[in-house]
Amino acid sequence: MNNKPGNRGPLGLLGGTFDPIHLGHLRLAEEAREALALEQVCFIPAGDPPHRTAPAATPQHRLAMVRIATAGHPGYTVDDGEVAATGKSYTVLTLERLRERHGPSRPLVLILGADAFLGITGWHRWAELFELAHIAVANRATHGSAWLDERSPELHAATARRVDNTPAALARAPAGSIIPFEMTPLAISASLIREHLRCGRSSRYLLPDSVLDYIQLHNLYRRA
Ligand code: ATP
Repeated sequence: MNNKPGNRGPLGLLGGTFDPIHLGHLRLAEEAREALALEQVCFIPAGDPPHRTAPAATPQHRLAMVRIATAGHPGYTVDDGEVAATGKSYTVLTLERLRERHGPSRPLVLILGADAFLGITGWHRWAELFELAHIAVANRATHGSAWLDERSPELHAATARRVDNTPAALARAPAGSIIPFEMTPLAISASLIREHLRCGRSSRYLLPDSVLDYIQLHNLYRRA
């Protein structure tokens, strides 16, 4: 990752539990990168994710799987800051750290699924997120950007004037826009993969073979 502050192209940020990373995550990153002309996408595994039950695999295993899945792609990097930190992995803290590292003028673009975006008012210091980064929201399968109509009154009030359908807006400012983009629907989830593995069913073609090899090598997600 470039550590020098400066006015480089937009940097996409994809946070997640990645328990394990799968092809839904990788397509989300790839389609955001292309649709929004992101210079890079940085994957950020959560160490201790708030708002959910504890992950099944350790932060170190989840980080290793993200590294394996993204290795060799020149447009992808991995940030281990949340895994290395103590305490809950709050996105606002990560964005503050990355804003400091990349300087005030580089566009930062937080990539989210529509469901994650609609729940954002439950996040720690959520209103500050819009000052630190743009937010790119993947449209839902057949409903396009209908999720915009599902915003709570509170979220609507905070975001109504920020929605911009032109990806070029990302390069014009370092933060502040909400950009919907189209994504190929892939009904893959980490929970589904964990369930397959727990029951001894195949997960092949839902995640990279290299990640599946790692899971088997380390006996992850087996019933205790
Ligand atoms: P779990 O099933 O354990 O809840 P998950 O598969 O949803 O996990 P996360 O690590 O929680 O994965 O998700 C990280 C980000 O990736 C979120 O913004 C989520 O909306 C998005 N995401 C996860 N799966 C998909 C998918 N199949 N298509 C598009 N986005 C996805």
